[in-house]
Amino acid sequence: MNASTPTPASTSSSAAAAASAALFERAGAVIPGGVNSPVRAFRAVGGTPRFIASARGPYLTDVDGREYVDLLCSWGPMILGHAHPDVLAAVQAAAVDGFSFGTPTEREVLLAEEIVARVEPVEQLRLVSSGTEATMSAIRLARGFTGRPVVVKFAGHYHGHVDALLASAGSGLATFALPDTPGVTGTAAADTIVLPYNDPEALAEVFAAHGDRIACVITEAAAGNMGVVRPRPGFTELLRRTTREHGALLVSDEVMTGFRVSAAGWYGYEGLGLEHAPDLLTFGKVMGGGFPAAAFGGRADVMAHLAPAGPVYQAGTLSGNPIATAAGLATLRATTPEVYAAVEANAATVRDAASAALSAAGVPHLVNTAGSMFSVFFTQLDEVVDYDQARQQDLGAFRAFFHSMLDAGVHLPPSAFEAWFLSASHDETAIGRILEALPAAARAAAEGAGRL
Ligand code: PLP
Repeated sequence: MNASTPTPASTSSSAAAAASAALFERAGAVIPGGVNSPVRAFRAVGGTPRFIASARGPYLTDVDGREYVDLLCSWGPMILGHAHPDVLAAVQAAAVDGFSFGTPTEREVLLAEEIVARVEPVEQLRLVSSGTEATMSAIRLARGFTGRPVVVKFAGHYHGHVDALLASAGSGLATFALPDTPGVTGTAAADTIVLPYNDPEALAEVFAAHGDRIACVITEAAAGNMGVVRPRPGFTELLRRTTREHGALLVSDEVMTGFRVSAAGWYGYEGLGLEHAPDLLTFGKVMGGGFPAAAFGGRADVMAHLAPAGPVYQAGTLSGNPIATAAGLATLRATTPEVYAAVEANAATVRDAASAALSAAGVPHLVNTAGSMFSVFFTQLDEVVDYDQARQQDLGAFRAFFHSMLDAGVHLPPSAFEAWFLSASHDETAIGRILEALPAAARAAAEGAGRL
């Protein structure tokens, strides 16, 4: 099905995506909504999701043989670009030795050592298979360690589809504007308190009222699932101080930011030092190099409460999988300071060009950054610091912008509430294609404004 010579996706959507459309229809018969993760279905932007047949460097090639510059990067993991030679070699070599043993392996130790060496507050960690598992396990551990029930989270922060954390989450839920989801019982959510992000008064009030029942505050290290919204100056320090004063743990979710914005994630990028370090951190995405590997870790005395060292149960048949750990290790080792510099430079070029094109077309917008992560809000607001503000977007403008970019061969995240992801493999040619596509997309956004 995959044409051997890809062509730039320069013609308009549905006819150009015939093979994707046919697969989407077949998928709809056997997979709910035709996809295995909701945002992939393009519901927020309409049209046919592209079924991808292969990917190399900064390019995706779909089943119709069309090539796209990739600004999704698998929602974050592919910081080196697709099929990086070192990672490919590591995966191939690991596969030859067998796929899964259900026993400890050396590579698990190597990957854990690599992460401990990079992220100072992580003294010990446990490998799992997804970011969801990491955050679910971290809050269980926080509750087990403190003996307290309540978890505090922030509106618009997404920590995976953990029942207790699916209250005012961002990501797909922001896209679909669901306040919550059926299937999560009142009991599961009853011990979750949701606060507005970046709001010191709300934090103080909730700790004054419930401080001795709060097991932890979980926060995206810098939010990336309602668009990018970083902590305001002083907010991370405030979270640290408040939780410490009340005997609660601080859990920093670095699934998206970890190993992406710096070698030590947002913790390293923000640079506040150990005094302000969280007690637990969660990781995923980049550390798996595109394979299912994730982790949670932090203070050794807290991690010592995990089975079999301690009483808090946590386990996984595929945890520390040999292929996933090989991919993760190779990815982290190849993610050098030069790689971080390249990703930052690429991100700066693209976000500046996007902003300039939108300004030239008269489209109100705001670009928020968190290191090399950024997103474009199609908004009239001067600042976006929380979920209420993040939601005030012109989704019609984004939709028109998205499709114009897609038709020109640039695949953005199909939602206005997502970060745009660059890799070190986005070279001059790939960036050039993005820059070329922007002016027409900005004009399309101007025309699409207010129409949804
Ligand atoms: N935490 C954050 C900050 C995320 O961005 C995500 C996924 O986007 C998750 C947790 C969940 O990770 P996964 O999709 O691997 O379960």
